Amino acid sequence: MPRPGDLVERDFPASAPNQLWVADLTYIHTWSGFVYAAFVIDVYSRMIVGWRLAGHLRTDLPLDALEMAIWRRGGTVNGLVHHSDRGCQGGFNLSIRYTERLADAGAPHLSSPAGRAVVCERRGFPSRRCSGGRGYPMDAVVMDSLEPLVTELRSRGFTVVGPVARNGAIRMDEVSSAAELPRGKGDQQEPGRYRLTERDDDMIFDFAASPDSAKRYTQPPRQTLVRMREETVEEVEPEAPLVALLGVRPCDLAALAVQDRVFLGGRHPDPAYRRRREALFLVTVNCAVPGGTCFCVSMGTGPRASTGFDLALTELAAPHRFLIEAGSERGAEVIEALPHVPAVQHDLVAAEAVSRTAAEHMGRQVETEGIQEWLPEAHDSPRWNEVASRCLACTNCTMVCPTCFCTTMEDTTDLGSGTAERIERWDSCFTLEFSELNGSPVRGSGAGRYRQWLTHKFATWFDQFGTSGCVGCGRCITWCPVGIDVTEELANLR
Ligand code: SF4
Ligand code: SF4
Repeated sequence: MPRPGDLVERDFPASAPNQLWVADLTYIHTWSGFVYAAFVIDVYSRMIVGWRLAGHLRTDLPLDALEMAIWRRGGTVNGLVHHSDRGCQGGFNLSIRYTERLADAGAPHLSSPAGRAVVCERRGFPSRRCSGGRGYPMDAVVMDSLEPLVTELRSRGFTVVGPVARNGAIRMDEVSSAAELPRGKGDQQEPGRYRLTERDDDMIFDFAASPDSAKRYTQPPRQTLVRMREETVEEVEPEAPLVALLGVRPCDLAALAVQDRVFLGGRHPDPAYRRRREALFLVTVNCAVPGGTCFCVSMGTGPRASTGFDLALTELAAPHRFLIEAGSERGAEVIEALPHVPAVQHDLVAAEAVSRTAAEHMGRQVETEGIQEWLPEAHDSPRWNEVASRCLACTNCTMVCPTCFCTTMEDTTDLGSGTAERIERWDSCFTLEFSELNGSPVRGSGAGRYRQWLTHKFATWFDQFGTSGCVGCGRCITWCPVGIDVTEELANLR
């Protein structure tokens, strides 16, 4: 079979999900022999969309990884370019079965470099690591209660932060028992509208994104940087408490990966961010009931997590139970300390059905094809003024956004104690002061500020950080008091 041509030529841009996938094989030395791993990555989000571990190198291994990737993307991937090496180890491009399966799914465009291995940059921090012997990688297990998990995490010194129903919303707050989690509670989310709902069942995680994201724990809303008293200036040590986030959603894991690029990439990584990030233990929950404003499928970030977590839960009904997968060595250690039984085929099929159903019920969608090119070119659209006529510049959208990271500095003095402090706090590009230079703002109009925000999120963020600035969580739509909807505005601007 002739080798496909190189359609990529080591230039790896993708402006939409399912435009370019890269795939590779690797091997892991364990105490009982080699384990082989095949994986498929969507270049757009750098998410691992399909993977498989096996004790052999037959074509079934990459084929299973490919099946998973195709299934997670809805069964068809029309126009996809699939890039891999020459497949000498059981095969990507040179396997007839693999090639035929890609063509069946709508991806006839195969690509392989001239005798070079594919270089894949892994996203996500801390990255998933493989170790030999016991522990990760391990098979999925099933638990019928989360109480032992909460107890185990607390015994390891973590403050457990999970969803709680409070003040008419599901918020993230400290929990000391699984009994505090929002059993039988749901939500309704639409543009400018959020309502807590009640159900008559035992499900704990059947709701969409909370107004709180993981950002609060990696980049606190307020933090003191410097404290001054008389002649002394003290640099305040940043706090980095051990926090286990229970119930963080796949879109929020993707947002953390975006934040990692912002704060840890480049020449000046932020040591305070790194300390807080490393103090997090992430227990993600694969989404079952997307909100009316969710569009993670369009952004390639959900509804099922594939990387960037320590533990991943899928909540299953009838009987009520949790399928649990480890995503890190310490996640596997926690599982081993908990009462569990191995997952059986029925559990795995049920978990797949949960994610498939969630993907089919996204509240919204965005057409991301070519967005990096056409959105900046919409600079003079009259639509910006139309949005600005409704926008209150309240900054809600940037406050709830899990990837918005802008801050400002404030100096305060306390005459009573004789101290002064320099404080960093969240800020927003929607305020007039944010772009003030020489006494006047660079972006003086509401239209200019909305255009800057939307264009940065969906287009120029790629130029800056190599990824989209939006993960499709829908929070900015739900919590905008006048219901401005990014998906609607993008459709209008296109
Ligand atoms: S722009 Fe809106 S939908 Fe996108 S990540 Fe931010 S809050 Fe979520
Ligand atoms: S939340 Fe809505 S009204 Fe408030 S600044 Fe954002 S777009 Fe404008």
